[in-house]
Amino acid sequence: MPGRLARAVDLYEHQGKELFRRYGIPVSEGRLATAPAEAREAAADLGPPVVVKAQVLTGGRGKAGGIKLAASPEEAEARAEEILGMDIRGHVVRSVWVESASDIAREYYLSLTFDRSEKKPLFMFTREGGVDIEEVAATKPDALVRLHVDPLEGYHPWQGRRLVYEAGIDDPSEQKQVTAIVGRLYDVFVGCEAMLCEINPLVVTTDGEVRALDSKLTVDDNALFRLPEIAEMRDVSAADPLEALAREKGVTYVKLDGDVGVLGNGAGLTMSTVDVVTFVGGRPANFCDLGGGGDAQGVVDALEVITRDPQVRSIFFNIFGGITRCDEVARGILQALGQIGLELPIVVRLDGTNAEEGRALLRDAGAGNLHTEATMLDGARRAVELAA
Ligand code: GDP
Ligand code: MN
Repeated sequence: MPGRLARAVDLYEHQGKELFRRYGIPVSEGRLATAPAEAREAAADLGPPVVVKAQVLTGGRGKAGGIKLAASPEEAEARAEEILGMDIRGHVVRSVWVESASDIAREYYLSLTFDRSEKKPLFMFTREGGVDIEEVAATKPDALVRLHVDPLEGYHPWQGRRLVYEAGIDDPSEQKQVTAIVGRLYDVFVGCEAMLCEINPLVVTTDGEVRALDSKLTVDDNALFRLPEIAEMRDVSAADPLEALAREKGVTYVKLDGDVGVLGNGAGLTMSTVDVVTFVGGRPANFCDLGGGGDAQGVVDALEVITRDPQVRSIFFNIFGGITRCDEVARGILQALGQIGLELPIVVRLDGTNAEEGRALLRDAGAGNLHTEATMLDGARRAVELAA
């Protein structure tokens, strides 16, 4: 699919921890449970005390009451009973991760993400962990150590030592453990084609052991064909239902919350279209990239996804004909409309190769709800008016 955007796939904490474990990052032993009785068995198996943790694809579970300590298997069952089915910011808890509880002395924060402006992976590390990292960045910016890694040179151990030193860790055993974890997190990042790897908190136990107590791992779905095991981890049911439908149909679609459905050919043009709709005072309902082609089936699939959103009041096609000629796209649109019979107003802007022929085809089709425009700005204005 040409021009396809990377889509972020979030993994559950327990999945991220499983990957951490494989790459040698220390994690606590745990079991997944989908029923309270399973949580009791898991606790008995692991040996209490345990911590019962809601598995949802959103952060701040602790504050929301989704993480609880249990001193016995019975208590683990009771806590799981409370947590399962809980709604955490729109995410219903379907499973809990029961793990051996840690005695925490200190909580640190370590992450690795892409810094797009520098075009390099960026480590962030601070001894002020356990809380929102945005809060640390805002209130104690000096406590947050940042370090870029040149992706061509790869990671070097001195970089981990520098993070540890600049953050002010002076215990030698702790320095050694954190440095090793930093290097392994880089391996996870590369090996899992991640967009984000975050450990918050990275804890030091009362025994002086450093361990990942939480995991947030986001991978790039463009890479999943190379990583079948991680592809299996993806939870399609947790995603937006429209986005799930789009994925099924191979449509590049991101739901937004406005009322003007947006389709473009090419990711860059489609993004500009979303911006222009906003610029003229409208609210885009989605981002949808038709890719390079304008074949009828692609248009049908895209329209089916877009119009499944009940908020959509008008549709704006923004097409720039390059290799794909505008008359071909126009034929595709007409064929698609013939197949699915839409009543919503549709504005089509065609520009580029054979634009005039394309517009003539659309005009001659004589559909009352079909409007053509020659510029992106006029098209956007018209679509916004028609949505009102
Ligand atoms: P989040 O709230 O979704 O980020 O979930 P976390 O996994 O980061 O847990 C939140 C907080 O719960 C941590 O910062 C810890 O303070 C606490 N917590 C989690 N696991 C344990 C544990 O094993 N022992 C103790 N004592 N506290 C824990
Ligand atoms: Mn956390």
